[in-house]
Amino acid sequence: MSKIDWIQQEIDGLKQAGLYNRIRTIESPQGAWLTVDGKKVLNFCSNNYLGLANHPDIVAAAQKATQAMGVGPAAVRSIAGTMNLHIELEKRLAAFKGVEAAITFQSGFTANLATIPVLVGKEDVIFSDRLNHASIIDGCRLSGAKIIAYEHNDPKSLDEQIKANLSQFRRALIVTDGVFSMDGDIAPLPDIYEVAKKYDILLMVDDAHGEGVLGNGGRGIVDHFGLHGKVDVEVGTMSKAFGVVGGVVAGNATIIEWLRQRGRPFLFSSAVTVPDAAACLAAIDLLEDSTQLVDKLWSNAKYFKAEMKTLGFNTGVSETPITPVMLGEAPLAQQFSRELFDVGVFAMALGFPTVPQGKARIRVMISAAHAIDDLDKGLEAFQTVGKKLGVI
Ligand SMILES: *Cc1c(COP(=O)(O)O)cnc(C)c1O
Repeated sequence: MSKIDWIQQEIDGLKQAGLYNRIRTIESPQGAWLTVDGKKVLNFCSNNYLGLANHPDIVAAAQKATQAMGVGPAAVRSIAGTMNLHIELEKRLAAFKGVEAAITFQSGFTANLATIPVLVGKEDVIFSDRLNHASIIDGCRLSGAKIIAYEHNDPKSLDEQIKANLSQFRRALIVTDGVFSMDGDIAPLPDIYEVAKKYDILLMVDDAHGEGVLGNGGRGIVDHFGLHGKVDVEVGTMSKAFGVVGGVVAGNATIIEWLRQRGRPFLFSSAVTVPDAAACLAAIDLLEDSTQLVDKLWSNAKYFKAEMKTLGFNTGVSETPITPVMLGEAPLAQQFSRELFDVGVFAMALGFPTVPQGKARIRVMISAAHAIDDLDKGLEAFQTVGKKLGVI
């Protein structure tokens, strides 16, 4: 027996259970169409909501900055100094979001790992939506605080949990996803804010799928609900609608200053590269210049969802461009995804444990990069496969 035999057994177990992750290889730039495993397919998978991942202005900005400033930041910012590009990005993000201050991280994941442990510790409690993203859950665990889950998108359940538990703890935090990535539903943030205000508890929202999607010109969920100044901390990512990479925490200036002093992924890990930071700045320029891409994203999403319903598909409870196509059991969703790929559509199946048992689905990610003609091709493929497999 070798020390790692157990790992091979675990991997074999995943394969037997149909849960082994087979990752496809993309051989083209991001866009409406991709070359995947040698085949040209319609892209219904990526979080490239606005088509910015390969936008010429953004590519040009990254190239220009690289020529001028090189690539790597070469050390942790707090130890070896920070580049003006990263400072400029933080100022521009704060202005874009309409908040006092912002700090950037390597990713949305590390932004959550940094933020939650600086706000609460062992003597404290976190009230967390039952369906929150893995990075929120990991951030909560790292903090050492007691984690109490409330029912998904249910401010009444949140209120009940707070009432029953708050007095046993020193401080508290409420944390929720803004847009839930599996169903595309939106947190009822105005009602959650009322609960946070009633008990005077810190409120944090992770706006990863709202940034560049919700609100005026993509300013996010706080703008969408007109809650400026009321949500203490907004976490976001530049890896989805912004089309680049990197995380951001935006909000109250004192909290942002505290993160610069105590956020561990800030203190012990380097920043994003020069071309990343420059590309993010160019993405903000595009978003501030015009709402055209965000408008296109929403008109595409409305068109696709309405046509899917007409075809007889169940697209769940989504309120955003995330379009789940509910299929029930995981093997059916996997077969559906394979058949779609055969007719030239790249759309992934999601099953347990990513989504609950019996709620397997294909998740279609609509983008401003899609032309109506692309969406029509996708609809035709869904119709063909849906009829073949007896779903519609
Ligand atoms: C995608 C996502 C993240 C992670 O963002 P990265 O920048 O890719 O690390 C964090 N939170 C939520 C809710 C997400 O959907």
